[in-house]
Order: sequence, then structure tokens, then C-alpha cells
Amino acid sequence: MAVSKPVRSAYVHVPFCRHRCGYCDFALVAGRDDLIGRYLEALARELARLESPLTLDTLYLGGGTPSHLGGARLRELFGLLRHGLHLQEGAEVTLEANPLDVTDELVSAARDCGVTRVSLGSQSLDAATLRALDRDHAPADVERAVERLAAAGFAISLDVMTAAPGQSLAGVDRDLEAAARLGPAHVSVYCLTWEKGTAFETQRSKGVLKPVAEGLERAMFERAIDCLTAAGYEHYEVSNFAKPGHRCRHNEAYWAVEPWEAFGPGAARFDGRTRRTNHRSTTTWIKRMLAGEDPVADVDAMSDEEAARERLVVGLRRRRGVSYADFELACGVSPRDLAGRAIDRWIAQGLAAEDAGRLWLTREGLLVSDALWAEVL
Ligand code: SF4
Repeated sequence: MAVSKPVRSAYVHVPFCRHRCGYCDFALVAGRDDLIGRYLEALARELARLESPLTLDTLYLGGGTPSHLGGARLRELFGLLRHGLHLQEGAEVTLEANPLDVTDELVSAARDCGVTRVSLGSQSLDAATLRALDRDHAPADVERAVERLAAAGFAISLDVMTAAPGQSLAGVDRDLEAAARLGPAHVSVYCLTWEKGTAFETQRSKGVLKPVAEGLERAMFERAIDCLTAAGYEHYEVSNFAKPGHRCRHNEAYWAVEPWEAFGPGAARFDGRTRRTNHRSTTTWIKRMLAGEDPVADVDAMSDEEAARERLVVGLRRRRGVSYADFELACGVSPRDLAGRAIDRWIAQGLAAEDAGRLWLTREGLLVSDALWAEVL
């Protein structure tokens, strides 16, 4: 197994939201802005634990909703980050934002802080779908946010969610066309998942909400591929589409199984072999940090074989798939040593293809990829 590379990417989890959307099970607190001051104090403590400052190619602020901090607090947060995280010239700095938060003040703070890319949690451009998803913004808020961000020169990524309760195939078509018309550099398409413990899942179990049928869900994903590729986006990963030159470099580093650092509640750092995940409760993470305790709640140390299997799965999430030679160089084993029988079956069923020393999933394979991962892991 190759020696771990230096850390060039970092993730900062900002766990604040105005409201918890009914489908969301992320590590966050809604309506607890009283905790922001202590969160920033705790974050400074976590940064101070670094043995030496990191020089980064990519920095990603996710959540929760980092834009919920507002301009002044965002400047404060970046002021703290500068103590431990140095940005390489040309670094990609992504800020996740709720369309409602994209004010002139936030835009100018983000620009002054060195943000280069804004990932908008738009989800839909249809009012009824946004209501069905329990979102707190309207289509006009997305349009206004895109206009402001584009005028300020940010690369914009839009999230589009499919399989919302009551959504039709025609509704997905309209949404994707509307998203493409706004001209973002990048689009991420996610299918609604029904997570245990969420309000949506409770309502589903009582028969109040009904998931869309599996066949329809798959058809929606196919429409996303067709519509966005026709609009000039490259489908470069299962859920992600980019205009030329606009792939998310931060996520590319994840999929290449590069090591990364992470800060904040629920954040997971990875050294190429071991994943160490902070406590996901915001209040517990704050308490631990302020008491000088270790914030890590879970350590997942992978064996050589487990690490190789994980590399194969994340590699196959990318449309270009996996190079057998590169994989063997990194892991000391071939994908065929790990999952030869599964690979042969996928190829026979048209779910995967191989050529010139590469293995990749076909369109059919991408549609059922979650089931395929189980066979490798
Ligand atoms: S805004 Fe995003 S992170 Fe916050 S509750 Fe909704 S889906 Fe979850």
C-alpha cells in the first residue's frame, strides 16, 4: 500500500441552520444561533491542535448552512482558519449557501475571505416541489442568489433534488431545464433518501408521505443525465455534472482517496487509512473542545484490504472509472483480486465495461450503483 500523501484538502463543518428540513439527518442545530460564539471558540481550539499549519489546494465549508453565519461571522470564521490553514495560490474555496442568505453583505464577505465557489442548496426551482421538500426558500430566491453570485464572479454549483414526494417526471424535466437555464458551472443531482429519525421518515411510516416508485426514481435520474449532458455538462461522477474545467476539485480529492483534514461537529478526517470522526452533537463537540478533550467519537481504521475495497468503490463512482495500473500501484492488489467475480458479472450484464486497462460503470451500472457497492464492500 502506498505511503500516505500530505494533506492538501480540508473540510469545515458549520452546523447551523435556520430550520431543519424534514428529510435532513445531517449533524446540525436549527434555531440555536446562541451557540455560534462558542462554536467559533471551539473551532479555534480544534485548529490549534494541528501540529503545523496546512497548505491547501481545496477548502470546503459545508454544513448545516455556512452562509447562515452572515457576513460578519463569516469574516470571523475565516480569520480563525487563517491560523492553521494556508491557501495555495489558485486554491478552490467552496461555501455552501442557502439562497435566502445570499445578500450583498454575504457576497462581499465571501469574496474578501477568498471564497471562489458557492454551492447553493437550491434543490428545486418549482414552488410546489420546494414546499414538498419542506424548504424555506422560493424559486425567486434561487434566481436572485444566482444573479448576485454570478455578478460577483463566483463559480456556482446548484443542488437539484429528485424523487420529492408528489414529483412527476415532467416536473423533474422542468426543474433541470430551469437549473441549466441559470447557467451554473456545476450541478449536483441527488435523489431524496428517507433517513431514519427524520420527520419525513416518520410521516412515511404513518402513510402520510409516499416515496416515488423505484422505476420512476430511476427514470428521473436518467432524465438528469440526458438533460444536463445535452446542456453541455460533463457527467463526471454518479451525482455530479460540470461545465468544462469546473469539476469540484475538493470532491475529486475525496474520490481519489487523498488524505484530508476536517473540523467541526460530525466532521471526519482521513489519513489515507483511518477515518476519525468528531462527535456529531454540536453541544458535545463544543464542550469537549472547550474542555481541552479529544473531539473524536469514532475511529475507523481500515485494513489494507478494506482500504483497497473502499478505493475501488469511490473510484467507480467517477465516470472515468479506475485504472488497473494506478489501482495496483496504490493498493498492491488488482481490482480483479478483490472483486473479480463481481466484475465479470457486471460486464456480462452490461453494468460495467473495461478497455485499455480501465474499468468503469456503464450508464446501466450507474443506475444501480448502490447495489453494486455492496458486492465490493
Ligand atoms: S438547509 Fe441543508 S443542512 Fe440545513 S436542514 Fe435543510 S437540508 Fe439540512
